[in-house]
Amino acid sequence: MCGSCAMTVNGVPRWTCRTHVDKVAGDGAVTVGPLRNLPVIKDLTVDMDPFFDRWTAAGGVFEPTGARDDAVPVLSPGMPARRAADAAIKCINCAVCYAACDVVSANPDYLGPAALNRAWSLVNDVKDGALDARLTAVSGAGGCHNCHSQQGCAVHCPNGLNPTAAIVGLKRATVRAALGRKVR
Ligand code: SF4
Ligand code: SF4
Repeated sequence: MCGSCAMTVNGVPRWTCRTHVDKVAGDGAVTVGPLRNLPVIKDLTVDMDPFFDRWTAAGGVFEPTGARDDAVPVLSPGMPARRAADAAIKCINCAVCYAACDVVSANPDYLGPAALNRAWSLVNDVKDGALDARLTAVSGAGGCHNCHSQQGCAVHCPNGLNPTAAIVGLKRATVRAALGRKVR
């Protein structure tokens, strides 16, 4: 896990380790600042607690259905649920998407793109046993239905993830669950 170098450079959230000055310097100047949407501790350092609190609130903790000594289930990497989980799983918790999200700025209850993306990876994990609780967690007042789907998070994610697509999946899954239909 890395991503701790995330900052705002010339108004854009990004990983500074992957930012070449000559590619971002506008008019020969570079301005650096802390990530948006998080409390500033000092200078460029932000308090990440609100970001991770939302992971917990979105049900971002894996709840195993098996015990330590059970045989590991064999899953085809091509099954649709596994592919959806894999597409969302490579998040490194850098909070760049969280800083880019205008709904996070406007709604202090919103869970944000990274926490919802994590929830989507677990909704698609057939080894996880907390599907119903997680769908309830992501459909509340600060949940997935607040997202406007304009993809600011996907545009800025330095890891190439698409939290917007994950959130669309959550919107569908929560509606299916509310209608009593099968989600997985
Ligand atoms: S698409 Fe949704 S989660 Fe992504 S930046 Fe926009 S409102 Fe935030
Ligand atoms: S989804 Fe992308 S931008 Fe957001 S925390 Fe994960 S790696 Fe960072």
